[in-house]
Amino acid sequence: MNAARCPLVAANWKLHGSLRFADDWARDFLRRPPPAGIEVLVCPAFVHIAHLARALEGSGVSVGAQNLSEHRDGAFTGEVSAAMLKELGCDYVLVGHSERRRIYRESDEQIAGKLRAAAGAGLKPVLCVGETLAQRRADDTREVLRRQLDAAAPVLSGLAADAFVIAYEPVWAIGTGETATPEQAQQAHAFIRDHLGGLAGGRAADARVLYGGSVKTDNATSLFQMNDVDGGLVGGASLKAEAFADICRAAPPRRD
Ligand code: PEP
Repeated sequence: MNAARCPLVAANWKLHGSLRFADDWARDFLRRPPPAGIEVLVCPAFVHIAHLARALEGSGVSVGAQNLSEHRDGAFTGEVSAAMLKELGCDYVLVGHSERRRIYRESDEQIAGKLRAAAGAGLKPVLCVGETLAQRRADDTREVLRRQLDAAAPVLSGLAADAFVIAYEPVWAIGTGETATPEQAQQAHAFIRDHLGGLAGGRAADARVLYGGSVKTDNATSLFQMNDVDGGLVGGASLKAEAFADICRAAPPRRD
């Protein structure tokens, strides 16, 4: 891991939790907070964001959302805008998670709209990219990453490197218990970073690139020590506060 980029370890609670769960989780996590030099983010369901933000107030742990609308306002029943999330206390928002792409058929164009909306409201988008198992077997991983990044390029190239984050999440590793090897992760991350460097201005190469896909306490250290892995996006294992605290500690803190 590059010491200049502050590692970020993010929790994606998906469709789990309750107000009580958020309170208990915050209490347990804050018993053993990670050392300085590691940024921590928790993304609960929309309806738990404000409550969790209060429970974590003053701790330095950021709160984010798992999704947002690409629209600012209007007749879009059931949607939540970037400005609404910002008002609730969000710093970050996940964009283009593979479950959104696959189950809700979010297109690259719609995802670019969500990135634009997030950045416009002062939220840091965490853009999720990654290939399916069939795409990996067909040796299409780079092509898929290239397409997903290029669709986002018009927005990302206008942002500072610390105003967004990329999460490499191979779809075959999400919630499956199967993890990319540290070498597979490093290869994909290096490709992503190199591709970001080719965007207008070249600044994007300094953005943080997280690994996501069955990160657990027993594999976090080997993944997080790779050169281009700047932390992780953690689903299932983040629901246990103590396990997530251990995963956060596996990230080598930034030394300035
Ligand atoms: C995720 O939800 O983004 C994720 C990586 O899940 P898991 O850690 O459970 O594979």
